[in-house]
Amino acid sequence: MGYADPAESRQPLVSPIHPACVYTFPDIDAIERFYSGAESGHVYARDGHPNADRLASQLTHWHAAEWGQVCSSGMAAISATVLPILLTGDRILISDRLYGKTTQLLRAELSRFGVRGDTVDVTDLDAVREALTQPTRLMFVESVSNPLCRVADVPALARLTREHGARLIVDNTFCTPMLMRPLELGADLVIESLTKMIGGHSDLTLGFVAGRDSDLGEAIRATISTWGFASNPFDCWLAERGLLTLDLRVRAATQNAARLAAWLRERSEVVRVMYPGLDDHPDHEQVGRLLPQGCGSMLAFEVEGGQEGVNRFMRAAPGIPFSPSLGHSTTTCSHPWSTSHRPDAPAVRRRQGISEGLIRLSVGVEPYEVIQHEMERGLAGVASVAESG
Ligand SMILES: *Cc1c(COP(=O)(O)O)cnc(C)c1O
Repeated sequence: MGYADPAESRQPLVSPIHPACVYTFPDIDAIERFYSGAESGHVYARDGHPNADRLASQLTHWHAAEWGQVCSSGMAAISATVLPILLTGDRILISDRLYGKTTQLLRAELSRFGVRGDTVDVTDLDAVREALTQPTRLMFVESVSNPLCRVADVPALARLTREHGARLIVDNTFCTPMLMRPLELGADLVIESLTKMIGGHSDLTLGFVAGRDSDLGEAIRATISTWGFASNPFDCWLAERGLLTLDLRVRAATQNAARLAAWLRERSEVVRVMYPGLDDHPDHEQVGRLLPQGCGSMLAFEVEGGQEGVNRFMRAAPGIPFSPSLGHSTTTCSHPWSTSHRPDAPAVRRRQGISEGLIRLSVGVEPYEVIQHEMERGLAGVASVAESG
């Protein structure tokens, strides 16, 4: 599958990059053997290439999946997954706190094809049970949500969707397979944006989808090719490199986040902290069961002084760059009110618990003291606005 020169007994330790968009065949018989499945390999990069195969096989293994496919982005993975399943007239039930673009895709975009997208609070299992009494093809949730880190009870949601003849898709971007493997908890499909923690260095855009049902895997593979959701070899190569340190990075960042959350809670400039590992988080009681390896590297906190307090924090803490993404190796911050949740009406944002003063942190793998020192500088900036009113 990968590059192997039969004349060379020593193979490269690191995967070569295969930028080729097309492969050669010695004759028609050879391409017949390829299309009949008698011979493996590649013909055209939009249908598959060695760098995607290597990355997919590793992630498929980690998720204990039957099959896995790499796509050009997390959004491409979501599109490639729902397109072959949904038909006009279908209904999809989605969490009311998804990544903004996912909500836009599953509600606004799919409605143009006659698919109805209804939202539900997935942390309220009675509400989910009630919502599933209407015919539903798919349910879509995030294992840990953005930005308030609500934890979905994936085993319970999987049971409910199965009872009602629907399929459960879990976007596991915030957890990675290091913290949760939704297929093992009963989900039908798992999706991840590799752009975030798995790439880990904010220099690639890719997505991944995996599952158990091989017919569905084949349909999704065909959709990736036909709709044009294929990945770029160089990005796959970078992501494969990210996998080498994923476990270390997730562990270090998770430890840093847990310590930082506890520290932030004691600060007078901080109104509240949302981290599932803290005992006042609404899903805290579930984390031992759902996230036994730790609660991950994402946390949110609200500062005094609303939007101006956030401005002050950002200006005083340049070492925690404001960059509206997540999963970088060093700590970054974002402001959900003005970025990810901007399309929602202010009243909707407030109802969800997203205020002008809320900062989302993607905690990195720096030595803990480095992060706390910079946070201290940022909060000192917030304090100066709180005092001046
Ligand atoms: C970023 C993100 C996506 C989309 O991934 P892209 O690679 O940016 O297309 C989907 N879901 C979640 C939870 C995300 O954070």
